Amino acid sequence: MDTLLKGGVVYPVAAAPVRDGAIAVHKGLIEAVGHASDFQERDFDEVISLSGQTLTPGFVNAHSHLQFSAARGKIPRGLSFADWIRRVIAFNASATAEEIFRGVEEGVAEMIATGTTSVADVASDVRCSRLVARSKLGSVCFAEVIEPREEEADGAFKGAAARISEMRKTGAKPGLSPHAPYTVSLRLFASLKSLAREESLPLMLHLAETAEEDEFIRRGTGDLAGLLAERGNKPGSFKAHQKSPVRLLGDAGLLDDALAVHLNTVDESELDVLAASRATPVFCPGSSWWFGRHKVMPLDAMFEAGMRPAIGTDSLASNHSLSMLEELRRAAEYFPSIKRGRLMEAATLNGARALGLNCGSIEKGRRADIISFKGEDFGGRLDSVFGAKRPEFVMINGVRMNAENP
Ligand SMILES: [Zn+2]
Repeated sequence: MDTLLKGGVVYPVAAAPVRDGAIAVHKGLIEAVGHASDFQERDFDEVISLSGQTLTPGFVNAHSHLQFSAARGKIPRGLSFADWIRRVIAFNASATAEEIFRGVEEGVAEMIATGTTSVADVASDVRCSRLVARSKLGSVCFAEVIEPREEEADGAFKGAAARISEMRKTGAKPGLSPHAPYTVSLRLFASLKSLAREESLPLMLHLAETAEEDEFIRRGTGDLAGLLAERGNKPGSFKAHQKSPVRLLGDAGLLDDALAVHLNTVDESELDVLAASRATPVFCPGSSWWFGRHKVMPLDAMFEAGMRPAIGTDSLASNHSLSMLEELRRAAEYFPSIKRGRLMEAATLNGARALGLNCGSIEKGRRADIISFKGEDFGGRLDSVFGAKRPEFVMINGVRMNAENP
């Protein structure tokens, strides 16, 4: 079926906005973008009028854990990082499979209703990945790996490789996610990195999230040492690497082309390491706010250094919402000096690029993932987007979504 979407303003992200714009959609892909007067309505099976609105690419949520959606509101704010992890582990152990799966489905519906059309989702349970892969969302489903004990690296690697091939069978686009430098040994990290390279899998990790992580990696001490010892790891095995988490992994070549989530504790001298690795920083402003972080990812300096950061919601264990609109507003609060158009790039195209997804901008040949907002936004303020609770219209893969078929 051929569909014509008539704006409004078309805000493609990768090109200049078009007033009285229109988008031709054919078999799920964008076939042409131009002025409404360039198209004949009779050439289309369906014409959708979105006049008075601004059309943008759907959001690419570059980091979530839909598996924890059922934890919404169950974990209090204000805990130490180690105590927060203890609560997440306890939640995982006590929640039933039905609760978890219902949480995944509700989370997917919330994402679509708020304009997300693709997601990078990390899960330890392959059944959650399967639900995400089968949903209407475009997705990369990351298999999460946690195993800090070096002597267990081979077994954990085999398990991860098996999960990747199982995910491929279910039609998911898989990725690999070694959880973080304090929960994955360097040996296991290196073998996962090789697997990612051989199989062209995106690699995502949590990195430089907290001062506790920094202390543990530099000196092998602190709250995370306590947590790991409690989880059965031998304190004698905790190494003092004498360098920051970013330098530890960057020097070992383990950050090459990776999506690095959080990066709250990086200092600007480390941006060279990230840039040389071609890593994509993923900012989670809602999660940083939820934890009350005083120092967050230096997003402004990253843009200035020519990097292409992306944005994600993280999970409902450390956020109130899965709406990328909330993340955009929070990002603009943290960084009022960054142009909103750049934040839009981070919420769409930059994530798509890092994940290898053919979406994130309105241009010929991309998947027709398109959303729209009330108000014609031709200037750079993008108030129609940044002020919205939800979009007026959501199309994924050329299919119009509504409240009944998220
Ligand atoms: Zn996360």
